[in-house]
Amino acid sequence: MLTETFSEKSQSTLYTLLPKVQNFLKMPKKLFIGGKWVDAVSGKTFPTYDPATGEILAHVAEADKEDVDKAVKAAREAFEKGPWAKMTPSDRGKLIWKLADLIEENLEELAQIESLDNGKPMAVAKVADLPLSIDLFRYMAGWATKIEGNTIPFSLAKPETFVSYTIREPIGVVGQIIPWNFPLLMAAWKLGPALATGCTIVLKPAEQTPLSALWLGELIQQAGFPDGVVNILPGFGETAGAAIASHMDIDKVAFTGSTEVGKIIVKAAASNLKKVSLELGGKSPNIVFSDADLSTAIPGAASAIFFNHGQCCCAGSRLYVEKKVFDKVVEGVSEEAKKIRLGPGLDPATQMGPLVSQEQFDRVSSYIRSGISEGGRVITGGNRYGERGYFIQPTIFSGVHSDMKIVNEEIFGPVVCAMPFEGVDEIAPVANQTIYGLAAGIWTNDISKAHRLASKLKAGTVWINCYNVFDAALPFGGYKQSGWGREMGHAVLENYLETKSVCIQI
Ligand code: NAP
Ligand code: MG
Repeated sequence: MLTETFSEKSQSTLYTLLPKVQNFLKMPKKLFIGGKWVDAVSGKTFPTYDPATGEILAHVAEADKEDVDKAVKAAREAFEKGPWAKMTPSDRGKLIWKLADLIEENLEELAQIESLDNGKPMAVAKVADLPLSIDLFRYMAGWATKIEGNTIPFSLAKPETFVSYTIREPIGVVGQIIPWNFPLLMAAWKLGPALATGCTIVLKPAEQTPLSALWLGELIQQAGFPDGVVNILPGFGETAGAAIASHMDIDKVAFTGSTEVGKIIVKAAASNLKKVSLELGGKSPNIVFSDADLSTAIPGAASAIFFNHGQCCCAGSRLYVEKKVFDKVVEGVSEEAKKIRLGPGLDPATQMGPLVSQEQFDRVSSYIRSGISEGGRVITGGNRYGERGYFIQPTIFSGVHSDMKIVNEEIFGPVVCAMPFEGVDEIAPVANQTIYGLAAGIWTNDISKAHRLASKLKAGTVWINCYNVFDAALPFGGYKQSGWGREMGHAVLENYLETKSVCIQI
């Protein structure tokens, strides 16, 4: 239970904030443009909150169109004329690696900031968000020296008449717009490959979680990146985000967020036909067969949905269980859900924090009400937790059917719909019955069945006997309305490169 004291006090009075975090919270939070920290042209700021208490953590400069214009100018200058444009790939790689080292040196502090701003347990940020961000930058540092073209034989000309080859060039000035669920990690996924390929960047963090991106700006400066290579502009989607998506001098926009906003980005990007990559929503099926090792499948299915409070684009939010073991698995997942300790992120015993915002709390609560009103049965959870902050109990629905809202729409919270199925032949079309195609899980000891089913699922990632496993080397992204392009792996480099064919008559 939430303690009596917690319901009255702020986290900073209950838990010790690290000295650098205390200092950071006191400092003015400005925009990072052209290597300098500046106020917004409008002079406006906006508050960012601690979702465990609803209290204001800090006021942050609010970027708008004029600030985006300034940042794009700085990024253009850095791309065309600055030292970045002349830097060797090896030196570019060293800078990215240096940034990874600096993040590692600030790991505790960044985990605390991430926990305060987003609500996630600091312990989780320390073992997931931070190490994955560091490794992503290191992986991408290596790619800086490995971006190569091809020599290409002509099919219609004699070999001795032409020589032709391709060069891979950075796409230019890139706009990047990211969500709040893994604030630092989403920044890393975006910045890493753009830096490795030699692009320059205007990054907008989510309004709910701007703090770790600002800390990252400090580290980018400290690492020695030339001015204007990375510009960081906290602000709102409808203003700063829209200005990035429609800007006439941005060559490419990379977006992570909802499918709904992804469609707005595509329309705005048509202004100058800038290239677009999108990582969008999901409603991922997690499929448990009766021959699975249930001692791993049950906690696996619970963590597939409850990790990061269900605020994962790839959350296993549709749990399909083979009929024979349905009751056993649902009961097991429900036991797991009841064991999860909710609390403020800085409490070392906390396993699940609050949702990120009042808005997200309202949204998830309304989905739970809708599930109940459409006839779904709440097996466990279904309510608010505590009296303040945006806590929601881990929630399991059964008795749901395929045309219900909670089965079809992305909830982005700790709510899973459990549904029985008869056998392997039936499950692929059911699992694919969604507008999304981001991820899927399969739990079985029959590896042939797992491979066959994996090939039938329309999803960018299929996890077998595991879930939510990420690696900087493994491409991640969506089929269908879950997105365009891939993050991570060498596949992501395509998002940031142009191909130039050079053709020589000899
Ligand atoms: P969102 O509302 O789409 O916001 C994402 C980002 O877009 C934020 O920075 C937001 O700014 C900005 N934005 C909003 N409206 C905009 C507009 N008109 N023009 C330009 N930018 C705009 O999504 P969210 O609620 O923050 O995040 C949850 C969603 O992200 C879920 O659907 C989830 O599945 C998806 N997601 C996908 C992945 C993936 O890799 N596929 C990863 C994480 C999350 P403000 O916040 O300042 O308004
Ligand atoms: Mg916040």
